[in-house]
Amino acid sequence: LVSRKWRVRPTVLDLGDGVRVGEGSLMLAAGPCSIESEAQMESIMQHLLDNDVRIMRGGVFKPRSSPYSFRGLGMDGLKLFHQMARARGIKIVTEVMQVSQVEEMHDYVDVFQVGARNTQNFNLLDALGGVDKPVLIKRGISGTIEELLSSAEYVFSGGNEKLVLCERGIRTFETASRNTLDLNAVPILKEKTHLPVIVDPSHGIGIRDYVPSMALAAVMAGADGIIYEAHEKPEEAASDGAQTLNFQESARLIRNLRKVYALR
Ligand code: PEP
Ligand code: MN
Repeated sequence: LVSRKWRVRPTVLDLGDGVRVGEGSLMLAAGPCSIESEAQMESIMQHLLDNDVRIMRGGVFKPRSSPYSFRGLGMDGLKLFHQMARARGIKIVTEVMQVSQVEEMHDYVDVFQVGARNTQNFNLLDALGGVDKPVLIKRGISGTIEELLSSAEYVFSGGNEKLVLCERGIRTFETASRNTLDLNAVPILKEKTHLPVIVDPSHGIGIRDYVPSMALAAVMAGADGIIYEAHEKPEEAASDGAQTLNFQESARLIRNLRKVYALR
């Protein structure tokens, strides 16, 4: 069902208030790895509005490699995130980690994110097949392109056709970068599926200085959008600071992404 053989016309998602995802517009979503505080959200939302970006990312339930790392503000953080975003016309993308969270999060999110560690959590995918909100599925850490498409098929066949696929880097033998951003996946996915395909260069390379060039390359490769990490003070971020852009870097990237998109 997610194949171009089944549907030729590209899928375009309407998040409301004129925010569209898919062919015809460049989706930009930015924000911190983790939602940390009201002041942090305030500054990031202002940065997004100043740059005409309408979607904010930010985790409240964080999948961390170590149980001792910051694991997010949970539902209280999400409710505040939602309230502040609504007041500013900003849409929210945030990660859902388990089936039991789908219902409690539902009214407070615009897009459910399925993280790379949950791409093959088939119970979670089944549950998201039953909701009426868009789902952004990240490629699994060691997942193939075909496996990503199969994960999308779970949600789509369950009745939810509002899907976005995201390349976020895979684990390879290379250790010079956090992950290996597989830009090959972009044209391959675009040919195989009618769903929007976006790229997360922050997790893809994991090194702040290289995030902008990988983001621009992804757009040239045909990506329908970019989701990346930004924070007022990346060095103080609760998670993923080393791959997070400050506002100056982020503003410059946004300008350049729009220029490159216009060249396609
Ligand atoms: C994130 O978006 O902060 C995140 C944890 O991403 P991923 O699932 O791709 O590692
Ligand atoms: Mn992160």
